[in-house]
Amino acid sequence: MSEPTARRNAKIVATIGPASWDPEILRSLLEAGVDVVRVNAAHNTIDVRRDIVKTIRTAARETGRCVAILQDLGGPKPRTGPLPDGETISLRRGQEIELVPGDAQLMQERISIDDANLFAQITPDRRVLIMDGLIELHTTARQGDVVQARVVRSGHLRGRQGVTVPGAKLPPRRITEQEAADIAFAAEAGLEYLGVSFVTCGGDIQMVRDELERHGGQCGIVAKIERPEALEALHEIAHLSDAIMVARGDLGVQLMPEDVPIAQKQIIAVARRHGTPVITATQMLESMIVQPIPTRAETSDVANAILDGSDAVMLSAETATGQYPLEAVEMMNRIVTAIERQCIYPQKAPEVADGPITTASLIARAANDIVRRAPLVNTIAVFTRSGFSAREVARERAVVPIVALTNNDYIARKLSLVWGVTSIVAPFASDTESLINDMTRRLVASGFAQPGHNILFVGSLTVFNEPGHTNLLHIRPV
Ligand code: PGA
Ligand code: MN
Repeated sequence: MSEPTARRNAKIVATIGPASWDPEILRSLLEAGVDVVRVNAAHNTIDVRRDIVKTIRTAARETGRCVAILQDLGGPKPRTGPLPDGETISLRRGQEIELVPGDAQLMQERISIDDANLFAQITPDRRVLIMDGLIELHTTARQGDVVQARVVRSGHLRGRQGVTVPGAKLPPRRITEQEAADIAFAAEAGLEYLGVSFVTCGGDIQMVRDELERHGGQCGIVAKIERPEALEALHEIAHLSDAIMVARGDLGVQLMPEDVPIAQKQIIAVARRHGTPVITATQMLESMIVQPIPTRAETSDVANAILDGSDAVMLSAETATGQYPLEAVEMMNRIVTAIERQCIYPQKAPEVADGPITTASLIARAANDIVRRAPLVNTIAVFTRSGFSAREVARERAVVPIVALTNNDYIARKLSLVWGVTSIVAPFASDTESLINDMTRRLVASGFAQPGHNILFVGSLTVFNEPGHTNLLHIRPV
């Protein structure tokens, strides 16, 4: 598996869409450093997605990149009605419009909203935010199923955009029919991650996991934190999910935008206490949708997400529908690499750790202590069957490259999301000595170690089968 030229620890998630699912563009994005490709189920059908997944797998093979696929479930996201592709309607400040329930095509003065529960709560004197708050309406009157509203913040409205009414209550989260089909697809297609939108509590994660298991799926579950309720339940959500997303787009319309920066830090801190990988997402390089360079503020935002301790940073519309998808990935790669190189605050392991103390977590801590104390070790190589031991080492933010040694391609792809981890996939020899010799050769062959280097092996002398049973620390000179 090829390693990008400049080493980067934090990972890059890129959402693909019409601007990037052409095979050639996709290959260029992977070569530029994308580690996880995100496909949003809200924007395409399963048949289309099946082809997209095939294209991604082919591009990964052709570029030799180890790439995970994350499929986001649409979730109960209320949306406007549709418009033909590329068409918009312009809403001017002060303009009077009507809101109606349903999903009729949008008209100049009439906007449909597809969620009956939300629509029922749109009373006079409410804020209605469309397109992540870009467009704001203020409701003035309601007669039966027609709500009068005035445009407070103008904009060009595309079809099927998210609608938020701050303060409106969600009915308890359930799996929609569409989501059930999308979960079944994720299992069938062997996707690595499944994103759950609008999570409110740990039970929401469990519900999706149960459904996934019914279909035999093994996807890691990514909890998207985009509702205020989720902030109250962060610990149980971090405990029950396989990764967390700081979904600033929706979070920033549910909360006031000025409350998002601290929420981001809290979410990352809780995720790290649990050793749950965390993705910081949305609008990171937003201006690159229409121009080839980001603003300085966006550059700083990506940098600060890294300094906060994110495992990964994410591109959304920049790569899905923007005009400069490749430039956006290249820019993100440059920012992350530069920050990691210049960072004057060494990435520290969280002081407090939640969750069970396993021998794997103790050994991971010890491995990281060793590499921090002495410039003796050049690489931590961790044998991992489930990915757990590699995640435990990564959680401590090792100061040398972490290589996951696994005999399972799927696990290797899953680890693409995890901070600092590169994977080598190879069969495991049956006795420890040949296993270590064999892996040492492979580490040298892939450029992770050279004669004169020392590799710190982390693994298990006996059972590789059960997660958490790591019990070996071994320094091997090459
Ligand atoms: P979305 O999620 O892009 O699927 O809406 C991320 C966010 O809300 O920030
Ligand atoms: Mn969202």
